[in-house]
Amino acid sequence: MKDIQSLFPSELNEHPLVIAGPCSAESEEQVLNTARQLARNGVKIFRAGIWKPRTKPGGFEGVGSVGFPWLAKVKEETGMLTATEVANRQHVEVALEAGVDILWIGSRTSANPFAVQEIADALSSSGCDIPVLVKNPVNPDLELWIGALQRVYNAGIHRLGAIHRGFSAYGKHIYRNMPQWHIPIELRRRYPNLTMICDPSHIGGKRELIAPLSQQALDMGFDGLIIESHCDPDCAWSDKAQQITPEVLDVILNTLVLRESVVTTESLALLRRQIDSLDNELLEVLNKRMAVSREIGKYKKEHSMPVVQIGRHDEIMQNRVRAAEDMGMDGDFMRIVLSAIHEESVRQQIEIFNGKQ
Ligand code: PEP
Ligand code: MN
Repeated sequence: MKDIQSLFPSELNEHPLVIAGPCSAESEEQVLNTARQLARNGVKIFRAGIWKPRTKPGGFEGVGSVGFPWLAKVKEETGMLTATEVANRQHVEVALEAGVDILWIGSRTSANPFAVQEIADALSSSGCDIPVLVKNPVNPDLELWIGALQRVYNAGIHRLGAIHRGFSAYGKHIYRNMPQWHIPIELRRRYPNLTMICDPSHIGGKRELIAPLSQQALDMGFDGLIIESHCDPDCAWSDKAQQITPEVLDVILNTLVLRESVVTTESLALLRRQIDSLDNELLEVLNKRMAVSREIGKYKKEHSMPVVQIGRHDEIMQNRVRAAEDMGMDGDFMRIVLSAIHEESVRQQIEIFNGKQ
C-alpha cells in the first residue's frame, strides 16, 4: 500500500476530521432533522447505516435502499458528504448508484476475507474512485485488518482510511469494545499515510465515554472521529445508549484539546497512553484470574481438598517462567510476579474455606 492518499481535497481535510450522524437511517424526518442540526454546527460529513448487521435475527436490520433518497436530500440541502456501510456486492452497487460519497466496511464484515474481497471486486468493476474506510475486525487481529485494507487498495481505492472501533471481549467491561490502542497505533506506525479515524461511540457503548475517548484518540494522533449522533437518541432504533444529540456533539467537539505537535512530547504522551491502556488490561486479566481462583476454592472446599497443592504450584511456576523467558522477559522478575499472584489466590481460597465469601 505504497500510494495511500488523503481522503479528501485539502478544504475538507480538517483536523480532526469529523463524521457524524445516526447509527441507522430510520425515517426521512429523523435523517433530515439530525443532518440539518449537524450541518448548522459545522459538521461536513454525514453518516447513516442503511443496512445494519445485527448479532441476532429479529432486530432492526436497516431501512434498506429506500433510505438513499433521504441521504441524497441531506447532500442537496446541507452540502454535507454522505457515508454508509456496505457489506456485499449489491450494497456497493446500490450505494454508488445512489451517489453516496464515502463507503465504510463494518467490523463484522472486515473479519471476513470473502466478503471484503467481494466488496473490493465490486469497487474495482465500478471503476469508481471513492474514499473507503475499513473498520477494524471484531477480533483483535491486526493482520486481518491490514488484509482487508489491502484488498480494497488492490481494487484501485487509494483514498483509504481505517476506523478504530475497538475489539469484542467476552463478559462485562467498562467498554462495549476494548480499545486495545496498541493495535491501531501499530497500524499507524506501519502505514503513516493511512487516515486513522476513531469511533468512540462503538468503543465506549455509552454517551459519557465519548468525550474522554475522543480526547484520548486525538492525543494519540488520530486524524478524525466518527461519532453517532441522533436528533432523539433515547428513541433510536439501534445503539441508543451511545448516541448523542447534535448539540451535545457540538459541546464535545468544542472542548477537545488539540495538542501541539511537538514530536518528542507527542510520542511520550502516546507511549504513556499505551501504558495506561495496557495497565487497564492487566487489571482486567488479574481480576478475571482471581474470580476463577475463587471458583476453584469453592470446588476444593466441596470436595475436601487442601488449598495448596505443591505439585500444581511448581508446575505453574516452571511453565510460566519458561514461557516468559521465551518472550524475552526476566525469569526472576516473573517468579516474583507469579508468587505474589499465587499468594493472593491462596489467601482468597482460604477465605472461602473459612466461609467469608
Ligand atoms: C456502525 O457504525 O453503526 C456499526 C455497525 O459499527 P461496527 O461495524 O463498528 O459494529
Ligand atoms: Mn451503531
